[in-house]
Amino acid sequence: MVSVELQNIVKKYRNVTAVDNVSFKVDHGEFFVLLGPSGCGKTTTLRIIAGLETPDSGRVLFDGRDVTNVPAKNRNIGMVFQSYAVWPHMKVYDNIALPLQIKKLSREEIEKRVKAAAQMVNIAHLLDRYPFQLSGGEKQRVAVARALAFEPNILLMDEPLSNLDALLRVQARAELVKLQKELKITTIYVTHDQTEAMVLADRVAVMNKGRIMQIGTPDEIYNRPVNRFVAHFIGTPPINFFAGTVEEGYINAGFLVIPFKNIPPGLVGKKVTIGIRPNDISISPIEQSIPVKGKLVVAENLGSEFILHVAIGDVVLRVLSKNKPAKEEVTLYVDKTKLHIFSEE
Ligand code: ADP
Ligand code: MG
Repeated sequence: MVSVELQNIVKKYRNVTAVDNVSFKVDHGEFFVLLGPSGCGKTTTLRIIAGLETPDSGRVLFDGRDVTNVPAKNRNIGMVFQSYAVWPHMKVYDNIALPLQIKKLSREEIEKRVKAAAQMVNIAHLLDRYPFQLSGGEKQRVAVARALAFEPNILLMDEPLSNLDALLRVQARAELVKLQKELKITTIYVTHDQTEAMVLADRVAVMNKGRIMQIGTPDEIYNRPVNRFVAHFIGTPPINFFAGTVEEGYINAGFLVIPFKNIPPGLVGKKVTIGIRPNDISISPIEQSIPVKGKLVVAENLGSEFILHVAIGDVVLRVLSKNKPAKEEVTLYVDKTKLHIFSEE
């Protein structure tokens, strides 16, 4: 097992800064997820770790050793891509074996490793098949087995589940967690899917426009987002935002006055954004809440619950609720312990 550290990595393509001063450290055996919208620099960051791209500046360290200029083939990394990259004209066995043959391992060693890797991802019975005889999920396993057979120090995965249909994705996700916990291999996993990140990660790095916005456990980034971007990117349905002004001892949001004890002195008189998640508002009284009267505009039925859209003046709040209120007039109970205050407007 190996730790991976990025120090101030910058990578530019002509006028685009794909990776903008990125630093983080992934511990031995950790499952680390890079999460962010399409184009935010996740793949470029992963390719720099693999040695497939050279950064313009900054350093990559494996176990404290500078590998910034070490070629990809000498980094002992296993990679799984979105497009599986299985070779159609080769049987599963050979698909897994090829990188080992290139590495010039003995036939016996190759056979041992291919079989062990196939066992780990439950495709031992498929070694004689061709890719066209496999389902999407099975092809994905072949790609994972190939990376594992390499016995890498580090496993890098770039949206490996995105070609699977929704149900299979949930299954494969659970299997990946189990496998990684068994193997305890240092893993860096890229995704734009927040649920995947929350389920898989020991820690998540949220990226936007080439920069790291926040690094933390799934719990930390959900409960203590450091800015609006992170708050909005994590959680479904998305968090509600509304504007407020900081006064001495409270925040005034017009329809809602929020008592607030420890307001930093510099903030008084400033405009802020207040965030509250749809599941932290209720239509029946809850403890430590502030009641607010509103009008039900729409109730979206999700089957087991509703997303209520409730208008309060010109603000519309989304509320996640088991029940749909009988009348248009509703009282919302906003959990005041769950309010997020952002000093950005
Ligand atoms: P992500 O994986 O998060 O979708 P990428 O790392 O692929 O993001 O891309 C980050 C940015 O860098 C994007 O704006 C993308 O268009 C640009 N980019 C990536 N690779 C190249 C390249 N080889 N040449 C030019 N621009 C690139
Ligand atoms: Mg990508």
